[in-house]
Amino acid sequence: MSTLRRALGLRLSVWYAAVFTISTVALVLVTYALLASSLAQRDHDIIRATLREYASRYELGGLAALSRAVELEERTGDQERLFVRVLGRGAEATFMRDPQAWGRYAVEDLGNGDSALSETIGHDRRAVLEVASARLVDGTILQVGKTNEIRLALLRRFELIVGVVSILALTIGITGGLVLTRSTVQPIYELIDVVQNIITTGRTDMRVPAPEPQGDAVQQLAAQFNAMLDRITGLLSAMGESLDNVAHDLRTPITRLRAIAGRALESGHPDQQREALADCLEEAERILSMVNTLMDISEAETGVLALRREDVSLRALLGEVVELYEDLAEAKRVAVTLEPGAELTVSGARDRLRQVFANLLDNAIKYTPDSGTVRIAAWRDGDAALVTVTDTGTGIGPEHLPRIWDRLYRADPSRSERGLGLGLSLVKAYVAAHGGTVEAHSAPGHGSTFTVRLPVGSRQ
Ligand code: ADP
Repeated sequence: MSTLRRALGLRLSVWYAAVFTISTVALVLVTYALLASSLAQRDHDIIRATLREYASRYELGGLAALSRAVELEERTGDQERLFVRVLGRGAEATFMRDPQAWGRYAVEDLGNGDSALSETIGHDRRAVLEVASARLVDGTILQVGKTNEIRLALLRRFELIVGVVSILALTIGITGGLVLTRSTVQPIYELIDVVQNIITTGRTDMRVPAPEPQGDAVQQLAAQFNAMLDRITGLLSAMGESLDNVAHDLRTPITRLRAIAGRALESGHPDQQREALADCLEEAERILSMVNTLMDISEAETGVLALRREDVSLRALLGEVVELYEDLAEAKRVAVTLEPGAELTVSGARDRLRQVFANLLDNAIKYTPDSGTVRIAAWRDGDAALVTVTDTGTGIGPEHLPRIWDRLYRADPSRSERGLGLGLSLVKAYVAAHGGTVEAHSAPGHGSTFTVRLPVGSRQ
């Protein structure tokens, strides 16, 4: 692990240092090349301009005029003195001004009269005398030249700067690389440590230290990771709780089952035994229905539930459900009204959708006292079909409202009404499996409204 750490850290630092140093040095080198070429260009321009000027002097006033011009230039000119030579027809130098130690350049075989620049190398291998020549009208050759020594001295100073800048760039590159690596890679390692700890200890209460949700990508990843751990911890505790509830809720009917069976065995009376068997059957049905519902909810929630979808007319479906509960409503003297609205078709599994509305209506009747009313209405809202089941019943307290969708949760503390506390969990899971949502609004003593929102078929 630490080898990996070092390898990754080192690789990042080296890359950063290399990229930074190479790009800085490349930039300086390009500047150097541009400077060198522009200095050379400037020297060449001076040589050519002076050659043109001396040639015209010579043509106007001969050698004397040229020599005067050279002397004047030497006295007044602020630039370095130039090499000037006039070669007669016999290639004899008739005029020569070699202000510096020209001896170190091989000036004898320079130029043939065209004005292209020719060079002669000095004693210092980099020093060069650059000379331009021109053949004048009388056949003499005029040459003007300039050494690049001043240029070289300037460039040498620049080379020193290049060296210093390169060393600085390398130092900054390495330091920057180390700092960058630390700040970038460190949070990743902290994340790895936490993951490793969770894997080895199984504890999900560990968190990556203080990540900033608005920070860089790594910080965001750490914050998301912590949020994911929160969610997993929540789910695990909910699962544990729900398992406890299931165990608790199964224990009661099974204990009852055992007691009834025990009593039947002891009594030996056939009538009592028959009655006990009937009770056992009822309890077994209850347990079976609970286990089946739990499995249906799990399947719907995990997406395993196979929905045999078809076009379902909401108007017809709600009519069936109301008819199914007519007797129960009448027995409880609860008035049920249906306002099915316009014809609406949703794509879904008919039986599952029937169960959704049946559970909602069942609850509404169950939790509404005598002479109350329950109203079912359906209408279209954009791309969705809305169905509301409103009752004038007991209502649900705000402390219970968020939990009524939990498995086996029953808000009624006395548990006076029949029920397993699974009806709404099933409603929520089935509606979600159909791509819809369900929500509840309620005020204790003022009744409740459950709203189911389902996507309608695109053909409508
Ligand atoms: P149950 O089998 O207990 O009815 P549900 O999952 O269907 O289980 O509902 C969970 C709890 O929500 C119920 O125990 C009840 O307290 C409350 N509840 C559901 N529907 C209504 C309603 N229409 N009016 C008042 N309380 C309701």
